Amino acid sequence: MHHRQFDGGYLLRFEKGESVTDVFHAFLKEKGVEFGYFSAIGPLQGATFGFYRLDIKDYVRHEIREEVEVASWSGNVSLRDGEPYAHTHAVFGKMDGTTLGGHVFDAVVGATLELVLNVLPGTVERRMDEEIGLALLCP
Ligand code: ZN
Repeated sequence: MHHRQFDGGYLLRFEKGESVTDVFHAFLKEKGVEFGYFSAIGPLQGATFGFYRLDIKDYVRHEIREEVEVASWSGNVSLRDGEPYAHTHAVFGKMDGTTLGGHVFDAVVGATLELVLNVLPGTVERRMDEEIGLALLCP
């Protein structure tokens, strides 16, 4: 992954074959990002995403094992258990023009993935909400 810093954030260009989740979280930790938001576009080799079922407090997981285009990718950065956490949702476009989408667990970069990260001042944490079953943002 290559990056460049700008006033208020970064441009990140992920490389073919990289795990977006691993590389992005390592970057956020290295740069000490504690609050922000991002968007990205680009082709992927595959992805793992999910749909959160509130009734069972767990995700239904889906795996994409083909090339897809990221039609939309957005999320926010906060602290979870003291570490930067990127909460990401995306829409994936398939070759036949149909789409899939949801909460992103991980994705493997295809030709490239272009991500713009806006870093905001301050710190926002997530804490476990037992009723919901997720670590929710604490404004
Ligand atoms: Zn989510």
